[in-house]
Amino acid sequence: MNLLDGKHVSAKIKEDIKQEAAELTTKLGRKPHLVAILVGHDGGSETYVASKMRNCEQVGFESTNLHYEADITEEALLSKITEINQDPSVDGLIVQLPLPKHIDPEKVTEAIDYRKDVDGFHPINLGRMQRNLPCFIPATPYGILLMLEHYQIDTSGKKAVIIGRSNIVGSPMSILLARNANPGNCTVTLTHSRTTNLAQEVQDADIIVAAIGKKNFVTADMVKEGAIVIDVGINREVSDLTKSGYKLFGDVDFEAVAPKSSWITPVPGGVGLMTIVGLLKNTLEAAKGTFYTK
Ligand code: NDP
Repeated sequence: MNLLDGKHVSAKIKEDIKQEAAELTTKLGRKPHLVAILVGHDGGSETYVASKMRNCEQVGFESTNLHYEADITEEALLSKITEINQDPSVDGLIVQLPLPKHIDPEKVTEAIDYRKDVDGFHPINLGRMQRNLPCFIPATPYGILLMLEHYQIDTSGKKAVIIGRSNIVGSPMSILLARNANPGNCTVTLTHSRTTNLAQEVQDADIIVAAIGKKNFVTADMVKEGAIVIDVGINREVSDLTKSGYKLFGDVDFEAVAPKSSWITPVPGGVGLMTIVGLLKNTLEAAKGTFYTK
Protein backbone atom coordinates (compact mmCIF):
# COMPACT_ATOMS: atom_id res chain seq x y z
CA MET A 1 0.00 0.00 0.00
CA ASN A 2 1.21 3.50 -0.89
CA LEU A 3 -0.20 6.65 0.59
CA LEU A 4 -1.58 9.39 -1.66
CA ASP A 5 -0.29 12.01 0.72
CA GLY A 6 -2.31 15.21 0.45
CA LYS A 7 -0.14 16.93 3.01
CA HIS A 8 3.03 16.43 1.00
CA VAL A 9 1.54 17.11 -2.44
CA SER A 10 -0.47 20.17 -1.38
CA ALA A 11 2.58 21.73 0.31
CA LYS A 12 4.64 21.22 -2.83
CA ILE A 13 2.05 22.63 -5.22
CA LYS A 14 1.36 25.56 -2.89
CA GLU A 15 5.06 26.47 -3.04
CA ASP A 16 4.82 26.61 -6.87
CA ILE A 17 1.64 28.71 -6.66
CA LYS A 18 3.34 31.10 -4.24
CA GLN A 19 6.19 31.64 -6.64
CA GLU A 20 3.87 32.24 -9.60
CA ALA A 21 1.70 34.56 -7.50
CA ALA A 22 4.73 36.67 -6.62
CA GLU A 23 5.67 37.01 -10.30
CA LEU A 24 2.09 37.84 -11.22
CA THR A 25 1.83 40.43 -8.46
CA THR A 26 4.81 42.26 -9.96
CA LYS A 27 3.28 42.07 -13.42
CA LEU A 28 -0.26 43.14 -12.44
CA GLY A 29 0.74 45.61 -9.74
CA ARG A 30 -1.61 43.81 -7.34
CA LYS A 31 -2.05 40.38 -5.80
CA PRO A 32 -4.41 37.73 -7.22
CA HIS A 33 -7.68 38.31 -5.35
CA LEU A 34 -10.31 35.81 -4.19
CA VAL A 35 -13.64 36.90 -2.70
CA ALA A 36 -15.69 34.40 -0.69
CA ILE A 37 -19.31 35.04 0.21
CA LEU A 38 -20.58 33.28 3.32
CA VAL A 39 -24.22 33.42 4.38
CA GLY A 40 -25.34 32.50 7.89
CA HIS A 41 -23.45 30.74 10.66
CA ASP A 42 -23.05 27.10 9.68
CA GLY A 43 -20.03 25.91 11.70
CA GLY A 44 -18.60 23.72 8.93
CA SER A 45 -18.95 26.49 6.32
CA GLU A 46 -17.29 29.07 8.58
CA THR A 47 -14.37 26.68 9.11
CA TYR A 48 -14.01 25.97 5.37
CA VAL A 49 -14.08 29.64 4.39
CA ALA A 50 -11.59 30.58 7.12
CA SER A 51 -9.28 27.85 5.83
CA LYS A 52 -9.61 29.08 2.23
CA MET A 53 -8.77 32.64 3.35
CA ARG A 54 -5.78 31.40 5.37
CA ASN A 55 -4.47 29.42 2.40
CA CYS A 56 -4.81 32.46 0.11
CA GLU A 57 -2.67 34.41 2.53
CA GLN A 58 -0.06 31.62 2.63
CA VAL A 59 0.46 31.75 -1.13
CA GLY A 60 0.43 35.55 -1.40
CA PHE A 61 -3.13 36.13 -2.63
CA GLU A 62 -5.44 38.82 -1.35
CA SER A 63 -8.64 37.39 0.08
CA THR A 64 -11.91 38.96 1.17
CA ASN A 65 -14.59 37.22 3.18
CA LEU A 66 -18.00 38.84 2.81
CA HIS A 67 -20.10 37.41 5.62
CA TYR A 68 -23.87 38.03 5.58
CA GLU A 69 -26.57 37.10 8.06
CA ALA A 70 -28.86 34.19 7.10
CA ASP A 71 -31.78 36.58 6.46
CA ILE A 72 -30.11 38.39 3.53
CA THR A 73 -32.57 38.40 0.61
CA GLU A 74 -31.87 36.53 -2.59
CA GLU A 75 -32.14 39.84 -4.46
CA ALA A 76 -29.53 41.53 -2.24
CA LEU A 77 -27.15 38.59 -2.63
CA LEU A 78 -27.54 38.53 -6.42
CA SER A 79 -26.94 42.26 -6.58
CA LYS A 80 -23.73 41.89 -4.53
CA ILE A 81 -22.57 39.18 -6.95
CA THR A 82 -23.21 41.49 -9.93
CA GLU A 83 -21.16 44.18 -8.22
CA ILE A 84 -18.22 41.82 -7.68
CA ASN A 85 -18.50 40.52 -11.26
CA GLN A 86 -17.86 44.07 -12.43
CA ASP A 87 -15.00 44.79 -10.02
CA PRO A 88 -11.71 44.49 -11.95
CA SER A 89 -9.73 44.07 -8.72
CA VAL A 90 -11.40 40.69 -8.07
CA ASP A 91 -10.22 37.60 -9.95
CA GLY A 92 -12.22 34.82 -8.32
CA LEU A 93 -15.59 34.68 -6.56
CA ILE A 94 -17.00 31.77 -4.59
CA VAL A 95 -20.24 31.48 -2.66
CA GLN A 96 -19.99 28.92 0.12
CA LEU A 97 -22.72 26.29 0.04
CA PRO A 98 -25.15 25.36 1.51
CA LEU A 99 -27.26 28.53 1.37
CA PRO A 100 -30.38 29.22 3.46
CA LYS A 101 -33.57 27.66 2.04
CA HIS A 102 -34.99 30.95 0.68
CA ILE A 103 -32.00 31.41 -1.67
CA ASP A 104 -31.88 29.36 -4.87
CA PRO A 105 -28.32 27.99 -5.24
CA GLU A 106 -28.80 27.54 -9.00
CA LYS A 107 -29.63 31.23 -9.44
CA VAL A 108 -26.58 32.17 -7.38
CA THR A 109 -24.27 29.86 -9.33
CA GLU A 110 -25.47 31.22 -12.66
CA ALA A 111 -25.18 34.84 -11.46
CA ILE A 112 -21.42 34.51 -10.99
CA ASP A 113 -19.43 35.61 -14.04
CA TYR A 114 -18.11 32.29 -15.40
CA ARG A 115 -14.70 33.98 -15.85
CA LYS A 116 -14.52 34.46 -12.06
CA ASP A 117 -16.20 31.12 -11.19
CA VAL A 118 -13.16 29.53 -9.53
CA ASP A 119 -15.38 26.88 -7.91
CA GLY A 120 -16.10 25.67 -11.45
CA PHE A 121 -19.84 25.25 -10.81
CA HIS A 122 -21.18 27.53 -13.57
CA PRO A 123 -22.89 25.64 -16.42
CA ILE A 124 -20.49 27.25 -18.92
CA ASN A 125 -17.50 25.82 -17.05
CA LEU A 126 -19.20 22.44 -16.68
CA GLY A 127 -19.97 22.35 -20.40
CA ARG A 128 -16.43 23.34 -21.33
CA MET A 129 -15.02 20.72 -18.96
CA GLN A 130 -17.14 18.08 -20.66
CA ARG A 131 -15.74 19.19 -24.03
CA ASN A 132 -12.16 19.14 -22.69
CA LEU A 133 -11.80 22.91 -23.25
CA PRO A 134 -9.95 25.31 -20.92
CA CYS A 135 -12.20 26.06 -17.95
CA PHE A 136 -12.40 26.14 -14.19
CA ILE A 137 -12.74 22.59 -12.88
CA PRO A 138 -14.55 22.05 -9.54
CA ALA A 139 -11.90 22.18 -6.81
CA THR A 140 -12.25 18.68 -5.35
CA PRO A 141 -12.05 16.73 -8.63
CA TYR A 142 -9.27 19.09 -9.74
CA GLY A 143 -7.35 18.34 -6.54
CA ILE A 144 -7.76 14.60 -7.14
CA LEU A 145 -6.41 14.94 -10.70
CA LEU A 146 -3.42 16.90 -9.38
CA MET A 147 -2.76 14.15 -6.85
CA LEU A 148 -2.92 11.40 -9.51
CA GLU A 149 -0.64 13.47 -11.71
CA HIS A 150 1.87 14.03 -8.93
CA TYR A 151 2.23 10.30 -8.27
CA GLN A 152 2.27 9.60 -12.03
CA ILE A 153 -0.57 7.12 -11.72
CA ASP A 154 -1.59 5.83 -15.11
CA THR A 155 -5.38 5.82 -15.24
CA SER A 156 -5.72 4.95 -18.94
CA GLY A 157 -7.92 1.93 -19.62
CA LYS A 158 -8.77 1.46 -15.95
CA LYS A 159 -12.25 0.84 -14.62
CA ALA A 160 -13.22 3.67 -12.28
CA VAL A 161 -16.23 3.41 -10.00
CA ILE A 162 -17.44 6.63 -8.44
CA ILE A 163 -19.79 6.44 -5.48
CA GLY A 164 -21.97 9.57 -5.24
CA ARG A 165 -23.22 11.81 -8.06
CA SER A 166 -23.20 15.29 -6.52
CA ASN A 167 -22.66 18.33 -8.75
CA ILE A 168 -19.51 19.27 -6.87
CA VAL A 169 -17.71 15.93 -6.62
CA GLY A 170 -19.07 12.69 -8.07
CA SER A 171 -20.59 13.94 -11.30
CA PRO A 172 -17.64 16.12 -12.45
CA MET A 173 -15.22 13.39 -11.36
CA SER A 174 -17.00 10.96 -13.67
CA ILE A 175 -16.64 13.40 -16.60
CA LEU A 176 -12.97 14.06 -15.88
CA LEU A 177 -11.93 10.44 -15.56
CA ALA A 178 -13.80 9.54 -18.75
CA ARG A 179 -12.22 12.33 -20.83
CA ASN A 180 -9.64 11.61 -23.49
CA ALA A 181 -6.90 13.12 -21.31
CA ASN A 182 -4.28 12.22 -18.77
CA PRO A 183 -5.41 11.58 -16.06
CA GLY A 184 -8.50 10.19 -17.74
CA ASN A 185 -9.33 7.56 -20.34
CA CYS A 186 -11.05 5.45 -17.73
CA THR A 187 -14.17 3.38 -18.21
CA VAL A 188 -16.38 5.06 -15.65
CA THR A 189 -19.34 3.82 -13.64
CA LEU A 190 -21.16 6.50 -11.68
CA THR A 191 -23.12 5.02 -8.78
CA HIS A 192 -25.61 6.54 -6.33
CA SER A 193 -28.28 5.64 -3.80
CA ARG A 194 -30.46 3.92 -6.41
CA THR A 195 -27.67 1.72 -7.78
CA THR A 196 -28.44 -1.97 -7.42
CA ASN A 197 -25.54 -4.31 -6.59
CA LEU A 198 -23.32 -1.41 -5.62
CA ALA A 199 -20.86 -3.67 -3.78
CA GLN A 200 -20.45 -5.78 -6.93
CA GLU A 201 -19.80 -2.69 -9.07
CA VAL A 202 -17.14 -1.50 -6.62
CA GLN A 203 -15.51 -4.94 -6.43
CA ASP A 204 -14.69 -4.69 -10.15
CA ALA A 205 -13.05 -1.27 -9.84
CA ASP A 206 -9.39 -0.47 -10.47
CA ILE A 207 -10.06 3.04 -9.15
CA ILE A 208 -12.64 3.80 -6.45
CA VAL A 209 -13.72 7.36 -5.68
CA ALA A 210 -15.95 7.46 -2.59
CA ALA A 211 -17.98 10.68 -2.18
CA ILE A 212 -21.07 9.79 -0.20
CA GLY A 213 -20.81 11.26 3.28
CA LYS A 214 -21.16 8.00 5.22
CA LYS A 215 -18.41 6.91 7.62
CA ASN A 216 -16.66 3.65 6.65
CA PHE A 217 -19.16 2.93 3.85
CA VAL A 218 -16.54 1.22 1.68
CA THR A 219 -15.43 -1.95 3.44
CA ALA A 220 -12.58 -4.33 2.62
CA ASP A 221 -14.86 -6.96 1.03
CA MET A 222 -15.91 -4.34 -1.59
CA VAL A 223 -12.34 -3.66 -2.73
CA LYS A 224 -10.27 -5.78 -5.08
CA GLU A 225 -6.55 -6.37 -4.46
CA GLY A 226 -4.44 -3.52 -5.86
CA ALA A 227 -7.25 -1.00 -6.27
CA ILE A 228 -6.55 2.74 -6.11
CA VAL A 229 -8.82 4.20 -3.43
CA ILE A 230 -9.70 7.88 -3.24
CA ASP A 231 -11.70 8.86 -0.20
CA VAL A 232 -13.49 12.20 -0.51
CA GLY A 233 -15.77 11.79 2.50
CA ILE A 234 -15.51 14.07 5.49
CA ASN A 235 -17.59 12.79 8.38
CA ARG A 236 -17.22 14.60 11.70
CA GLU A 237 -17.72 12.97 15.06
CA VAL A 238 -17.51 14.66 18.42
CA SER A 239 -14.40 13.51 20.25
CA ASP A 240 -12.67 14.48 23.47
CA LEU A 241 -9.42 13.03 22.15
CA THR A 242 -8.68 15.94 19.81
CA LYS A 243 -7.99 19.63 20.39
CA SER A 244 -10.72 20.69 17.98
CA GLY A 245 -13.33 18.60 19.81
CA TYR A 246 -14.12 16.44 16.80
CA LYS A 247 -12.53 13.70 14.75
CA LEU A 248 -12.78 13.24 10.99
CA PHE A 249 -13.58 9.99 9.21
CA GLY A 250 -13.71 9.23 5.52
CA ASP A 251 -16.21 7.17 3.56
CA VAL A 252 -13.68 4.32 3.42
CA ASP A 253 -12.79 1.98 6.27
CA PHE A 254 -9.12 2.94 5.97
CA GLU A 255 -7.65 0.38 8.40
CA ALA A 256 -9.28 -2.56 6.65
CA VAL A 257 -9.06 -1.32 3.05
CA ALA A 258 -5.49 0.07 3.02
CA PRO A 259 -3.72 -3.33 3.05
CA LYS A 260 -5.64 -4.39 -0.08
CA SER A 261 -5.10 -1.17 -2.02
CA SER A 262 -2.14 -0.14 -4.19
CA TRP A 263 -2.71 3.56 -3.42
CA ILE A 264 -5.04 5.17 -0.91
CA THR A 265 -5.82 8.65 0.45
CA PRO A 266 -6.04 9.12 4.22
CA VAL A 267 -8.72 11.21 5.97
CA PRO A 268 -7.69 13.72 7.12
CA GLY A 269 -4.58 14.53 5.09
CA GLY A 270 -5.83 13.49 1.68
CA VAL A 271 -8.40 14.96 -0.69
CA GLY A 272 -9.44 17.82 1.64
CA LEU A 273 -6.03 19.48 1.38
CA MET A 274 -5.97 18.95 -2.38
CA THR A 275 -9.37 20.65 -2.72
CA ILE A 276 -7.86 23.85 -1.39
CA VAL A 277 -5.04 23.51 -3.91
CA GLY A 278 -7.61 23.15 -6.72
CA LEU A 279 -9.23 26.40 -5.63
CA LEU A 280 -5.88 28.22 -5.41
CA LYS A 281 -4.85 26.98 -8.87
CA ASN A 282 -8.15 28.18 -10.35
CA THR A 283 -7.76 31.59 -8.69
CA LEU A 284 -4.25 31.92 -10.09
CA GLU A 285 -5.52 31.02 -13.57
CA ALA A 286 -8.31 33.59 -13.19
CA ALA A 287 -5.78 36.27 -12.27
CA LYS A 288 -3.59 35.32 -15.23
CA GLY A 289 -6.62 35.40 -17.53
CA THR A 290 -5.32 32.14 -18.99
CA PHE A 291 -8.68 30.56 -19.65
CA TYR A 292 -10.73 33.60 -20.47
CA THR A 293 -9.49 36.87 -21.91
CA LYS A 294 -10.31 39.70 -19.54
P1 NDP B 1 -23.95 14.89 -1.46
O1 NDP B 1 -24.70 14.66 -0.20
O2 NDP B 1 -24.29 16.05 -2.31
O3 NDP B 1 -24.09 13.59 -2.37
C1 NDP B 1 -23.94 12.33 -1.82
C2 NDP B 1 -24.06 11.32 -2.91
O4 NDP B 1 -23.92 10.02 -2.33
C3 NDP B 1 -25.40 11.35 -3.62
O5 NDP B 1 -25.21 11.23 -5.01
C4 NDP B 1 -26.13 10.12 -3.07
O6 NDP B 1 -27.00 9.49 -3.99
C5 NDP B 1 -24.97 9.20 -2.77
N1 NDP B 1 -25.31 8.23 -1.75
C6 NDP B 1 -25.79 8.48 -0.51
N2 NDP B 1 -26.01 7.31 0.13
C7 NDP B 1 -25.65 6.34 -0.71
C8 NDP B 1 -25.66 4.93 -0.63
N3 NDP B 1 -26.08 4.29 0.46
N4 NDP B 1 -25.23 4.23 -1.70
C9 NDP B 1 -24.81 4.86 -2.81
N5 NDP B 1 -24.77 6.19 -2.94
C10 NDP B 1 -25.20 6.91 -1.91
O7 NDP B 1 -22.43 14.86 -1.05
P2 NDP B 1 -21.12 15.60 -1.58
O8 NDP B 1 -20.67 15.04 -2.89
O9 NDP B 1 -21.26 17.06 -1.43
O10 NDP B 1 -20.10 15.11 -0.46
C11 NDP B 1 -19.84 13.74 -0.24
C12 NDP B 1 -18.85 13.63 0.91
O11 NDP B 1 -17.65 14.28 0.54
C13 NDP B 1 -19.28 14.32 2.21
O12 NDP B 1 -18.74 13.61 3.30
C14 NDP B 1 -18.63 15.69 2.13
O13 NDP B 1 -18.40 16.26 3.40
C15 NDP B 1 -17.33 15.32 1.47
N6 NDP B 1 -16.69 16.39 0.72
C16 NDP B 1 -15.36 16.49 0.88
C17 NDP B 1 -14.65 17.43 0.19
C18 NDP B 1 -13.19 17.47 0.37
O14 NDP B 1 -12.58 18.46 0.05
N7 NDP B 1 -12.58 16.39 0.85
C19 NDP B 1 -15.30 18.38 -0.71
C20 NDP B 1 -16.72 18.14 -0.89
C21 NDP B 1 -17.38 17.17 -0.17
P3 NDP B 1 -28.33 10.22 -4.57
O15 NDP B 1 -27.85 11.20 -5.57
O16 NDP B 1 -29.07 9.10 -5.17
O17 NDP B 1 -29.01 10.84 -3.39
